[in-house]
Amino acid sequence: MSRCLAILNEVFGYPAFRGLQAEAIEHVADGGDCLVLMPTGGGKSLCYQIPAIDRKARGLGAAIVVSPLIALMQDQVAALLEAGVRAAYLNSTLTGQQAFQTERAFENGDIDLLYVAPERLMTARFLELLDRSRIGLFAIDEAHCVSQWGHDFRPEYIQLSVLHERFPSVPRIALTATADEATRNEIIERLALSDARVFIDSFDRPNIRYRIVEKDNARTQLLDFIRSEHQNGATNDAGIVYCLSRRKVEETAEWLNTQGIRALGYHAGMDAEIRQTRQEQFKREDGVVMVATIAFGMGIDKPDVRFVAHLDLPKSMEGYYQETGRAGRDGSPANAWMAYGLGDVVQQRKMIDESDADEAHKRLSTAKLDALLGLCETAGCRRVRLLAYFGESSAPCGNCDTCLNPPDTWNGTREAQMALSCVYRASRASGFSFGAGHLIDILRGTRTERVAQYHHDQLSTFGVGAEQGEPEWRAIFRQMVAYGFLAVDHQGHGALVLTAASRAVLKGEQEVTLRRYVKPARSRQVGSKGGSRTDPTTGMSPHQRARWERLRTWRAETAKADGVPAYVIFHDATLAELARNAPASVGELRGIPGIGARKLERFGEELIDVVGAD
Ligand code: ADP
Ligand code: ZN
Repeated sequence: MSRCLAILNEVFGYPAFRGLQAEAIEHVADGGDCLVLMPTGGGKSLCYQIPAIDRKARGLGAAIVVSPLIALMQDQVAALLEAGVRAAYLNSTLTGQQAFQTERAFENGDIDLLYVAPERLMTARFLELLDRSRIGLFAIDEAHCVSQWGHDFRPEYIQLSVLHERFPSVPRIALTATADEATRNEIIERLALSDARVFIDSFDRPNIRYRIVEKDNARTQLLDFIRSEHQNGATNDAGIVYCLSRRKVEETAEWLNTQGIRALGYHAGMDAEIRQTRQEQFKREDGVVMVATIAFGMGIDKPDVRFVAHLDLPKSMEGYYQETGRAGRDGSPANAWMAYGLGDVVQQRKMIDESDADEAHKRLSTAKLDALLGLCETAGCRRVRLLAYFGESSAPCGNCDTCLNPPDTWNGTREAQMALSCVYRASRASGFSFGAGHLIDILRGTRTERVAQYHHDQLSTFGVGAEQGEPEWRAIFRQMVAYGFLAVDHQGHGALVLTAASRAVLKGEQEVTLRRYVKPARSRQVGSKGGSRTDPTTGMSPHQRARWERLRTWRAETAKADGVPAYVIFHDATLAELARNAPASVGELRGIPGIGARKLERFGEELIDVVGAD
């Protein structure tokens, strides 16, 4: 067995490497430079932690880990300490005295991994500390922070190339979850990694089930989704709900609480202190649902987020993938769920139109939105679409809504023509354009006040579409705006106008294939015995379930005593294994994933007691 695999087994308690971990880890442990691209949750941390431990054990020196976020640094160090690895950090949260002690310990060789913030690394004091010590590895986490065009740009990262000039013989590993080629090239150039090996792992997250449902009443749909799939007994899973506006964040959080789901709001308009507290609550307490704008997420590596829900459409595939990627980092089943409707398409199109950006930027935003709309409307596998967008080809996944319940498509050319001609006639008759609601009233022949006011019952399209119901028409309009057969008027409030592409449809030169509207089904209610796909207790006997509950209580107490989040002690998957297998002796604990040597020694007896208490 290789040295590195032995460390994986012994220290971390995991049986095997994932994806490209093994290759990258061996390469770095042997002193090579590399750049690692892996999706969120892919397991990047072990790629530098294991070589660090290995090199230190071989007397080659300790590792310096550059990390831009203090919260992440602290979590990583806490987890390493629990696993018995000598890790520490230097950042602005330490007192002068604490920092001094850490520096001393480092110089004395008592620390295997030292995490530092980039601004600290570049100080004369720290560089001198490095000169005096033996350094075995530099790891640069979140390496995309060197990219000036990215949204996480950190000027201090640019200076990190100094490391190579000053310590040319120390291997370096840079890591990121940002997939695009431009960023990759920028990292290689700015960090002087042109001779480094590049490991690009698949960006697929197979444990995440993607689902995009037609928006009907989004709130009720969300509640239904959480209740039926993420509530087991009195508690619910941890999850994130993304909304576009601050107001909607607050309203949704408040409403979920009235429905018995523990929810917290989070957005950039809140006091920094409140945000900090809520972020900690989300991390440390069981079953908190965070309702947030996209301001929330960076720096959250909570591995047991079981679902990410979108109540509004994100702006791009990049945004969608990054946000949904926060679900299921621990590799256990998780859900990415989104409610999407006509209003979302109209709103996003309008936001682009009304922004102050220049034309080139608007075109880019439109292209990005179009790619995402393609994902929403596809009748094919969602994952295939997503991965293709990021340059990866794949086969239908079997773990997304369209694979599991292939949607019906139909030839909607006639209805599309009705819609377009209605748009045209109503605006010609009145001198301005109308929104989908009014157009649908005309098509269905509904005599509303507005219809009467504008004499739209006189139009030749009045009542021609009575065969289709209101929701069916909304789905038709939604798809037509998504596909660009209709556009949102610059002036009106969501008024629809014809586009260059409308002509071919009106003239019968282009067929229009549409996804058939399906009435959002109420999710099947999961009884207390059933359990959903993401529930680790699914299929457990009452005995096993009781053990699971005891283990959870034990974990909560232990985490509290150690001042760390529960997942730092053990993941749910480990507890579920314990509950199922009911090991009777410490020896039998050895094969259970997630129990390394140190945790075995520290918790082994206790676990046997807790498991055997029935
Ligand atoms: P990333 O930084 O790439 O987002 P992490 O390093 O945080 O991902 O890893 C995500 C989770 O996967 C962590 O909880 C980690 O313990 C787990 N993990 C990583 N590699 C393995 C492995 N080979 N076997 C089992 N679990 C792993
Ligand atoms: Zn699929």
